[in-house]
Amino acid sequence: MKMTLDADCSNCPYCRNIPGVGAFPLKSAATEFDQLLNIGPGVVIAPTVGMFIPGYLLLITTRHVVSFSQLDEEQLSNVERFVGLSTRQLSGLFDEYLVFEHGAVSCGRSLHGACVSHAHLHLIPAARRVERALSSVVSWEPITGLADVIRLRESGYLMYGTQGRYYVSRYVPTSGQWIRRRVFEWLALETHWDWAAYSGRQELMMTLDRLRPLCDAKGDPVFLY
Ligand SMILES: [Zn+2]
Ligand SMILES: [Zn+2]
Repeated sequence: MKMTLDADCSNCPYCRNIPGVGAFPLKSAATEFDQLLNIGPGVVIAPTVGMFIPGYLLLITTRHVVSFSQLDEEQLSNVERFVGLSTRQLSGLFDEYLVFEHGAVSCGRSLHGACVSHAHLHLIPAARRVERALSSVVSWEPITGLADVIRLRESGYLMYGTQGRYYVSRYVPTSGQWIRRRVFEWLALETHWDWAAYSGRQELMMTLDRLRPLCDAKGDPVFLY
């Protein structure tokens, strides 16, 4: 992997705040939103500021790369297996998961810097409520697996998946966090899509509470992997 990919690591909120992520990983989480819920192959699962429904988590690469398309085929198939295991297990506690990525280009264009240029998949338990709307709002192409995003490394992309099926779109949104905003609208929530306006602390507490059955005696999450 090229050195330049790690270039702006020092300003990255994931690299700075989440244990095990980035070139100089922390031992403990910077805030309650940065705590590790699970560790997978080159990725971690953590809550996220702006989690507007319970169970809304992020799956983040431990290396600072701009999008999942920067990983290689083997890494991506391991990640895919881990996403499948994780979301299946979490679905039992929340609801069917929708996973999506604002691939490289769209994220980097965010005017407010609100979307982080460090590869992350949004995991939102809302597939049954929003997949129909999402699948028809722009044109999507089915892909055979996550590794298929490698060919979109240069162009940028949107990607979503549910129940092991993945789709990409070359649609270039005019604003950052595009899918996240649409999902928020379709869910017709009364809070706010922007994490700066709504942190989702209550949703975080509900999430941790519901994850408790998957924790060991010390209270550490041991679900999956
Ligand atoms: Zn980073
Ligand atoms: Zn994002």
